[in-house]
Amino acid sequence: MKYLEACHIKNRYICAVCWSHLTAFIEGDEYVVRCAAYGAEHSGYVTRAYAERRRAEDLFDALEARQNLKDILGLDGSGSAEDAINELFGGE
Ligand SMILES: [Zn+2]
Repeated sequence: MKYLEACHIKNRYICAVCWSHLTAFIEGDEYVVRCAAYGAEHSGYVTRAYAERRRAEDLFDALEARQNLKDILGLDGSGSAEDAINELFGGE
């Protein structure tokens, strides 16, 4: 892969598996792009725009789930989207 193509992919896409940033480096006589967190273990890219849209949808789903399950799970139903995700999925 050429340098400009590698830069374009690195700047426009993120890892399809873990949504980490990508890194571009030279290997042999051409550039390669890899997941910055897991390297060659992860393959594939998605656009940053796709990931942002999915994150927004996931936050909305988490808020809706908390609203629907708050009586069953004994949640207070207030707080941010981050709070909803932590309550529902056992975050910090
Ligand atoms: Zn990854």
